[in-house]
Order: sequence, then structure tokens, then C-alpha cells
Amino acid sequence: MMNETLIRATVFAAHKHRHQRRKMADAIPYINHPLDLIHILAIEAKIADINVLCGAVLHDTIEDTDTEYDDIEKLFGPKIADIVAEVTDDKTLPKAARKQAQIEKAPHASPEAKLVKLADKIANMRDMAANPPSGWEIARIIDYIAWSKEVVDRMRGAHEVLEKLFDAAYETARAAHQGAKPLGLLE
Ligand code: ZN
Repeated sequence: MMNETLIRATVFAAHKHRHQRRKMADAIPYINHPLDLIHILAIEAKIADINVLCGAVLHDTIEDTDTEYDDIEKLFGPKIADIVAEVTDDKTLPKAARKQAQIEKAPHASPEAKLVKLADKIANMRDMAANPPSGWEIARIIDYIAWSKEVVDRMRGAHEVLEKLFDAAYETARAAHQGAKPLGLLE
């Protein structure tokens, strides 16, 4: 299952994210997050599509590093580059608009991008439950959880196993922060 392209993509992502840390309290290396996605897709959901797995491991390179679409296209081909581009937020937009754009774009994403997006939301939901970003007040966490579910709800029918994994992670995250009141930032 682990083929040459996926190994190259994983090494490329590890290099690009090498100076970044996750924003959770324990500040683990950033690459753990893309690795969470390929674990969810390949091991938990048994997805073997190499384009999806490479798209997943590279999914934050354009958004969060100096990587450009052309770099990925040159190294990994247009199919993988297109998947990464599809799951890349437009950072010129303010935060609220970016979140709204994810909700609106979700149902129109390609089947491959939907799988990457679902795995991303599962990984983030598990983090919210077990290891939320440091400095976030509980209401912000609750808002984030609700927003993630809204994005996933607009991709229902894309992949049954991934949706079930998300629902389980969502329930755990909700239970972990029960009793907190949402800020309603998206209202
Ligand atoms: Zn991500």
C-alpha cells in the first residue's frame, strides 16, 4: 500500500512543515497531523487510492508553508495538486469568511477532496476532544466543533465509514466539553 509516490509526498510534507508545531498544549510536530489523516484514510477506512493519500499528507502544504500549486504539480502531478488546492483555504479572506467558504464549498468538492476533508475533520475533532488548542476558551472550542459538523453534514454520502468515524469523534468532543455555551460566532 505504501508506494513510492506516497513516501516522497510524506517526506516532502515533513520537510515543508519541519519548523511548525501544532497549536495544542503539548505542541507536537506539525507533521503528526497529516500523518493522522493518512492513518485514518488508509488504516481505519481502508482507502487505497494513492492520489487521496498523497493529497491528505500534503493537504496543508499550500495553506501553511511556502509550497505552491506548481511545486506539487511538478513533483506529484496535476491530480494530487488539484486535490490539495481543493482543500486549501483562501488565506486572503478573513477567518469567518474562510469558515463560511468551507461550508459552501463542501458539497461541490470532488470525491477525492471530500475524503481528505472528512479525514481532516475527524483528526481535528479527535484533537478537540483529547488535546484542544492551548489558549482557546471553551466556547471557542464548542463553536469549532459545531462548525466542523456543519461542513461534514454537507458532504454526507461521500464515505460511510469516514462519516461514522467523524460522528463518533464529534460525540466524544461534545461530551468532553459538555455544559459549555457556544459563542455563536458564525451567527
Ligand atoms: Zn488539516
